[in-house]
Amino acid sequence: MEVIFLGTGTSQGIPVIGSDHPVCKSNDPRDKRLRVSVLVQCNKNNILVDCGPDFRAQMLTHNISHLDAILYTHEHNDHTAGLDDIRPFFFRQGDIPVFAHERVINSLKKRFEYIFMAENKYPGAPSVGINIIENKVFEFNSLSIIPVNLMHNRVQVFGYRFGDFAYLTDAKTIAPEETTKLKGVKVLVINALRQEQHHSHFSLQDALEFIEEIQPERAYLTHISHTMGFHEEVQAQLPPNVYLAYDNLKITI
Ligand SMILES: [Zn+2]
Ligand SMILES: [Zn+2]
Repeated sequence: MEVIFLGTGTSQGIPVIGSDHPVCKSNDPRDKRLRVSVLVQCNKNNILVDCGPDFRAQMLTHNISHLDAILYTHEHNDHTAGLDDIRPFFFRQGDIPVFAHERVINSLKKRFEYIFMAENKYPGAPSVGINIIENKVFEFNSLSIIPVNLMHNRVQVFGYRFGDFAYLTDAKTIAPEETTKLKGVKVLVINALRQEQHHSHFSLQDALEFIEEIQPERAYLTHISHTMGFHEEVQAQLPPNVYLAYDNLKITI
């Protein structure tokens, strides 16, 4: 299995528009972060987790020519705003399967009404195959995927475990019975917004404590704000098996 970090930034991305913050002015490419998304490549499947506002640029950067499914974590705009840009995939492949909690599907239906219309669709509008998921394991193209329920302040979020790999973003609290699903995971991706505490995201310290509890072989931090600091300086302070993810990083599991 290969995982490409398509974006590792928080909702505004880095640089933030108009910001004079030194991290926003950094020349280190690892300090430039698009909105969060990963592409999981397994058994020739390209499975996208979240389809945010930078989706088009992310697909072009990695020369992705087919998309097998989109899994959504939750309905926030930084995770969903790119849906219209599935059009080139739809024209070549037909309906693109999407998997999400029912509440998230309903939110997408409101915001992208023309994509979900059953009749009298405007020519050129893309279509999706709707798959509502609950908090239980599901299969896609003989791949077994385990949803992990997370809380993002009051918003429910799904993280996903694919075999030895788990991707959890926009978490602030995780119930013990959900943590159990992560036992034995080799590579864990978890959100860490910044050094200071936040009402709906893990801080760096929250994330490090969670990694300590789960004990993966390797952990990667994502959904990073410019206020976290320079990539190089933050990375130097992390435990040896913990890495700040950065855009376009590819890992093999
Ligand atoms: Zn969110
Ligand atoms: Zn987010």
